[in-house]
Amino acid sequence: MSTRTPLMAGNWKMNLNHLEAIAHVQKLAFALADKDYETVEVAVLPPFTDLRSVQTLVDGDKLKIKYGAQDISAHDSGAYTGEISGPMLSKLKCTYVAVGHSERRQYHKETDEVCNAKVKAAFKHGITPILCVGEELEVREAGNAVAHTLAQVEGGLKDVPAEQAESIVIAYEPVWAIGTGKVCGADDAQQVCAAIRGKLAELYTQELADRVRIQYGGSVKSGNVAEIMAKPDIDGALVGGASLDTDEFVKIVRFTE
Ligand code: PEP
Repeated sequence: MSTRTPLMAGNWKMNLNHLEAIAHVQKLAFALADKDYETVEVAVLPPFTDLRSVQTLVDGDKLKIKYGAQDISAHDSGAYTGEISGPMLSKLKCTYVAVGHSERRQYHKETDEVCNAKVKAAFKHGITPILCVGEELEVREAGNAVAHTLAQVEGGLKDVPAEQAESIVIAYEPVWAIGTGKVCGADDAQQVCAAIRGKLAELYTQELADRVRIQYGGSVKSGNVAEIMAKPDIDGALVGGASLDTDEFVKIVRFTE
C-alpha cells in the first residue's frame, strides 16, 4: 500500500478571469469537506492574473486548497517580456507550478532543456514543479510511448539533486488524450507510470522513486477517474477541462465514492 497522498490538481488553462476565479474557488471550498483533505491534496492552477486573488482568498479564509501557476520563467528577473519568475510566484505563495505542459511544448516550443531549467527555477524558489510528460499519437502508434516519455523525465530532471527530485510531481499526460475526450486506458497509463517510477529509481534510488507522486492527465472525468486511480503507480490526476466544473471536479476529488 502506497503512502503517497494523491494530488488532484485542476489546470484551468487560459480560462476564468480573477473575479470568476474567486467565485470558482469559493464554490469549490464550500463543496469540499474537511474529510476530503484527509485522503487527497487538492490544488488549482489558475492563470497568472488570478493568482493574487486566489492567494488572498485562500489566506483570508484559511482554505485547504493549494494553488500554483501554469508556467514559470527559467530566469529570476530581467528583460524577459511577458514572463513570470520564480520569485514572483513564491511571493504569491504558490505551492506548485506546471512545467512543460504539452501546450507549452507544442505552442511555445519548450524543449526538455527549457523544462529542465524551469524545474530548477521552481525548486530554487521553493515551488514544487509538476513536470508534464507524454507522447503524441504517432509516437504511441509507433510503439515508442514509454521511451519517449522516459526521455522527457530524464531531460527534465538533468542535474536535479535527489533532495529536490524527491518532492517533484510528474504528470503523465499523453498528448492525444488532452482535451480530446479520448482517455488513455488505465492499464496503458499504469504501464507508463510504472516505467516512470522505474526511471526515477534508475536515476536516483528506489526509495526516492517510491516517494514521488505520478499523476495521470488526459480527459479525466468523474466517470473514469476511479479506474485510473486504482492503478498502483498513479497518484493523482491533472485535470483540465473537467476542473472548470465545480461539481465534476469535486466528484473527481472524491474518486473512491
Ligand atoms: C491538462 O490540461 O493537463 C489536461 C489533462 O486537460 P484535459 O483534462 O482537458 O484533457
